[in-house]
Amino acid sequence: MTALFPFDNSYARLPGRFFARIAPTPVEAPRLVRLNRTLASDLGLDPARLESPEGLEILAGRRVPEGAEPIATAYAGHQFGQFVPQLGDGRAILLGEVVGRDGRRDIQLKGAGPTPFSRRGDGRAALGPVLREYLVSEAMHALGIPTTRALAAVTTGEQVIRETVLPGAVLTRVASSHIRVGSFQFFAARGDVEGLRALADHAIARHDPAAADAENPYRALLEGVIRRQAELVARWLSVGFIHGVMNTDNMSIAGETIDYGPCAFLDTYDPATAFSSIDRHGRYAYGNQPRIALWNLTRLAEALLPLLSDDETRAVAEAEAALSGFAAIFEAAYHGGLNRKLGLATTRDGDASLAGDLLKAMAENEADFTLTFRRLGDAVPEPGSGCEPAAVEAVRSLFIDPTAYDRWAERWHNRLAEEPGTAAERKRMMRTANPAFIPRNHRVEAMIEAAVERQDYAPFETLLTVLSRPYDDQPDFAHYAEAPEGGGRGYRTFCGT
Ligand code: AMP
Ligand code: MG
Ligand code: MG
Repeated sequence: MTALFPFDNSYARLPGRFFARIAPTPVEAPRLVRLNRTLASDLGLDPARLESPEGLEILAGRRVPEGAEPIATAYAGHQFGQFVPQLGDGRAILLGEVVGRDGRRDIQLKGAGPTPFSRRGDGRAALGPVLREYLVSEAMHALGIPTTRALAAVTTGEQVIRETVLPGAVLTRVASSHIRVGSFQFFAARGDVEGLRALADHAIARHDPAAADAENPYRALLEGVIRRQAELVARWLSVGFIHGVMNTDNMSIAGETIDYGPCAFLDTYDPATAFSSIDRHGRYAYGNQPRIALWNLTRLAEALLPLLSDDETRAVAEAEAALSGFAAIFEAAYHGGLNRKLGLATTRDGDASLAGDLLKAMAENEADFTLTFRRLGDAVPEPGSGCEPAAVEAVRSLFIDPTAYDRWAERWHNRLAEEPGTAAERKRMMRTANPAFIPRNHRVEAMIEAAVERQDYAPFETLLTVLSRPYDDQPDFAHYAEAPEGGGRGYRTFCGT
């Protein structure tokens, strides 16, 4: 029989100090909750075999598959601004890499047991957070936002102790790589320039192959990461996503959204929203995310200084020049996204303030972020006949003072009148920029409660199905688009995973 995973493990070929070799700790009584068959096929894996007893043994960490070289990777990181020189995979074990339809992907078991980096942790994951990560990461993918993926979720038949006793689970996470800003900080903090260079060369080969031919390959790598992160955060903002724990160890060099611990989506629009219970000062609030991304990238640039030039002054100049590109890339991505959300195919002076004034009115009037933009698409004026009254009412009624919408809409209509193309084209564009379905926090919580309290996975399956087509109207599931009672204020997420 051929190997289930055709592994080729480039990270495990790096020097030994990059990781610890450690196999998953077998779990008691695994049960498959869900296999992502589509993703399995895209990775060139056999879904039927993954669902078989052999597959389950592997996905639960009871058997190391042929060709795997299980490792826990070493990294450091700034957690809420405080530097921790050694973190590392405390409960995630990288089995290896496969090269699928879309390129090389890490196959990692999260919750697979203790590693040398576990510190006081148990190396395990609870079912609730595993289902949350599975659902939200797959929803992000369907929204078109770069993200790690979920290949499988299994329960372990074991309990994990958090504030309460919870059922344990293992998530199989798929990522372009698990290299983080904190991976570079790990070597920089030790003055290990050779390690730093080996990691940078590895990252270039994997994520920025063109950088190898640049005049300064390491500056080109830095610029690549800056571009990906700037665009990623702009995409987050465009769907109301709050990552919640943007520590430098949770910032992927590949530019994928990673670590779905305390993440949540905005209901009512308020840029100061921070749901995470441990984010007391709002460091990682919705509207702070671009600034934090730049702060994290500045830490990356610092770590890369020894590679940027042999001359210290020159290295700092290279780093500063690269970092100075962040703002323009972010602004272009963010405002380009907002223009699409407003049905504007062209760009004019004043577009940024038009969008900004809508957001301001939404914040002042406690309008739901997702519903406002989705319903705007139905309220596009038709030349000659104007707007459909019911569609306009559907948007304006989201505002405490609906006349705030009316005042803004007049300016929007004037701006739309300057656009080429038809109203139908505008509506189409807006439907692909403004999702109807996001993982609403109240739905995610209800899904977790059903699974954990009653072993009822039907809500999980239904949500996954609905969220796999976020831009389509799905009349049978219209209630999944609705905002929670009270606009979701007071919602809290927890890192206790
Ligand atoms: P996070 O806040 O999810 O980014 O995790 C921060 C660090 O804590 C990482 O090094 C994780 O591997 C580690 N960690 C989180 N939960 C556990 C756990 N249950 N057991 C061991 N390590 C953990
Ligand atoms: Mg993390
Ligand atoms: Mg986490």
